[in-house]
Amino acid sequence: MLFEILEERMAPSEVVELLNEFTKDDLENYAIKNMICPYCGNDLKIINWQEEREYQGRPTFENISELVCYSCGNTYSNNIY
Ligand SMILES: [Zn+2]
Repeated sequence: MLFEILEERMAPSEVVELLNEFTKDDLENYAIKNMICPYCGNDLKIINWQEEREYQGRPTFENISELVCYSCGNTYSNNIY
């Protein structure tokens, strides 16, 4: 199925070249960019919260954002945005 789709746009030698360069990281980044859990394929939700930090002796709040999959429980850093 994947090969048929790719062959519509490129020669078999190009398909081999493309897939040789393709890594699991590419797939994970692609999934996260589309708000899909790379592990199970379900939708990811953005969760935001504040964490207290100390900056030059004074307490300060840092905004933390993370992507969570409520299906498998995996979390991913939201640093793509
Ligand atoms: Zn998941």
